[in-house]
Amino acid sequence: MVDAAKVKKAYKGRAKRCCCGCSGEYFYNGGYTGGDGPADQQRLERIVRRINKALADPDQPKDQTWNSGDHVAVEVGNRLYIAYFSE
Ligand SMILES: [Zn+2]
Repeated sequence: MVDAAKVKKAYKGRAKRCCCGCSGEYFYNGGYTGGDGPADQQRLERIVRRINKALADPDQPKDQTWNSGDHVAVEVGNRLYIAYFSE
């Protein structure tokens, strides 16, 4: 499970597309406003809840779930959600 308090930024965008922001949006933890986007804690937490729901779902395909250590990504339908952890 992903702890929203440890997430520096979250991403929501179209699956199988570029993640620079042109196919989605980044939301920054209110405590880490040093990023290049607006702090938007509520939307970040909504993305984290969506990620946790997918991680807990036995039907979530394992090849559409990535955990690199510094971020967790899940693809759900045509959506991609990513949580980036603080260092
Ligand atoms: Zn792009």
